[in-house]
Amino acid sequence: MDPSDARRILEEERGRGRALIGRAGSIEELDRTKTGVLGRKAPVSEVQRSIGSLPENERRELGRLTNEVLAELRAEVENRRAELEGGADAELLSADAVDVTLPGRRPRPGSFHPLTLVEDRMVDVFTRMGYRVAEGPEIEDEWHNFEALNIPLDHPARTMKDSLYVDVPGMLLRTETSAVQIRTMESQGPPVYVVAPGRTYRHDTPDATHGTVFHQVEGLAVDEGISFADLRGTLEAFARELFGTNTRVRMTPDYFPFVEPGCQVAVSCFVCDGAGCRVCGNGWIELLGAGMVHPKVLENCGYDSERYTGFAFGIGIERVAMVRYGVNDLRLFVEGDVRFLEQFEGVA
Ligand SMILES: [Zn+2]
Repeated sequence: MDPSDARRILEEERGRGRALIGRAGSIEELDRTKTGVLGRKAPVSEVQRSIGSLPENERRELGRLTNEVLAELRAEVENRRAELEGGADAELLSADAVDVTLPGRRPRPGSFHPLTLVEDRMVDVFTRMGYRVAEGPEIEDEWHNFEALNIPLDHPARTMKDSLYVDVPGMLLRTETSAVQIRTMESQGPPVYVVAPGRTYRHDTPDATHGTVFHQVEGLAVDEGISFADLRGTLEAFARELFGTNTRVRMTPDYFPFVEPGCQVAVSCFVCDGAGCRVCGNGWIELLGAGMVHPKVLENCGYDSERYTGFAFGIGIERVAMVRYGVNDLRLFVEGDVRFLEQFEGVA
């Protein structure tokens, strides 16, 4: 190669290379440009290879110039690379950026489940009357669930048809929270004033009014001189707290093995005040079962039934929630449908 050609090529490549490198818009494009400007087949590389065959006096000067151009172009490539990488970072940053001027997305407040709302409300009414909250296991033995509650062996509730037995002999999912009555009296002497909220289980086919799992608040009061009038007064106070001060209570005789006498308790409808409407039908809403604790139940727990008397009641939480919130299908409580549940936001 002619030394003057070599000099010209080096100067051209210095300008062309810098321009190409500066125009590379991405790391990939820069790598391709680098191959074209500095690679084995690049004009600068050809000049470099030809230096060895040049006359001695030209060799030194052209060698120096070649190295200068190569170093300059390599430095340009690295500068451009740094710029592009910084740009890529900046691009990522801007894609990730938080626009602090945008209005925020409001966090959605959750809400309590309607059954929790009703349970809390009911328990609150009784604890303010001086009752204590008691709890018991959901898997019970037959003693606490049946025998101690005066439910005889041939009682239909004890068959597999109505109860859900577990695969441990004599153990079942409790069919009532009444079992907690027994556990409480076994663990302490009188007087007793407890409410026991909790889950109970029945063998049933779920539909609008039947479920396999439902909730109760059980109440038990045992003391000297407790009478049926105390039961009535307590339930009236409860009904007024829950449904309004005009609420009246109606008691009709009913049979439950663990109480004597037993009764079904209805409250006057809070919608029509007893006149009769779509919610109640005849003006009364059947709400719970209650009665005076059967002497046998007291004796089963070691209480002196001559000295102590008591009353007990079991209130279905689903029943109260359906009445209170106008829910007509029990299944809504267990389906977890947000459209249903969000209606209880802010409800107390
Ligand atoms: Zn009514």
